[in-house]
Amino acid sequence: MDVALAREWMRATAAAVAAGADRLTRLDAAIGDGDHGVNLNRGFTAVVAALDQEAPPTVGEVLAKAGSTLMSRVGGASGPLYGSALRAAGRALPQTSAVRPDELVAALRAGLDAVRKLGGAAPGDKTMIDAYAPALDAFEQAVAAGAGLAQAAAAAARAATAGAEATVPMRARKGRASYLGERSVGHQDPGATSASLMFQALSDVSQV
Ligand code: ADP
Ligand code: MG
Ligand code: MG
Repeated sequence: MDVALAREWMRATAAAVAAGADRLTRLDAAIGDGDHGVNLNRGFTAVVAALDQEAPPTVGEVLAKAGSTLMSRVGGASGPLYGSALRAAGRALPQTSAVRPDELVAALRAGLDAVRKLGGAAPGDKTMIDAYAPALDAFEQAVAAGAGLAQAAAAAARAATAGAEATVPMRARKGRASYLGERSVGHQDPGATSASLMFQALSDVSQV
C-alpha cells in the first residue's frame, strides 16, 4: 500500500459511510441512540477534508491523521474508538511512502489492540470488534499464505461481513446497546456493520 492507496481507502470509506449512513443510523436506532450514521458520516467527511488540505508523506501519517480527525470530530463512542484504531495503526507503521501487507497486518493488529484497550470489549460482546477481529484474522492468514494485498483484503472484507451478520443473535455487553440487555438480541450491531464497510472499502481500492 502506498500513500495514494491509503488516501483512496479513506476516501472510499467516506463514500461507503455516506451511502450507508441511513442504514447505520437505522441499526443504531434499534439498539442505541440512532446517531451512528450521522456520527461517522460527519467524521469521515472531515477526514477527507483534512487529507485534501494537507497530503501526509507516509501511509502511517495518512492513517494517523484520519484517526486524529475522527477523535476530534465524532462525539459518539465510535469516534474515539475508530480514531484510536487508525491512529495506533498509523503509528505502528514504518514511516515510509509504501508499506508491505505484513506491515499492514501488524498495524491493523495495533489498531484492534487500541480499540480493546479503550473500550474494554471482547469478541462476542456485539461491537465493532466482532467484525474487525475476524477480518484481521482472515487478512493475516491470507498474507501468511502468500496472498497480495488485493486477495488478502478481499478475504478480510468477506470475514468482516460475516462477522457483522454474526452479531445479530448476540446480546450486547458494551456500549449503549448493553443497556437493552436481552432486547439487543435480534439486531445487527451498527459498529460491526460500519467496520465491515471499512474492510470492504479496503478491498475495493486494493483490487487491481
Ligand atoms: P454512541 O453509542 O455513543 O451513540 P455510535 O452510535 O457512533 O456511538 O457507535 C455505536 C457503536 O460503537 C456500537 O454499535 C459498537 O459497535 C461500538 N461500541 C460501543 N461501545 C464499544 C466498546 N466499548 N468497544 C468497542 N466498540 C464499541
Ligand atoms: Mg449511537
Ligand atoms: Mg450517540
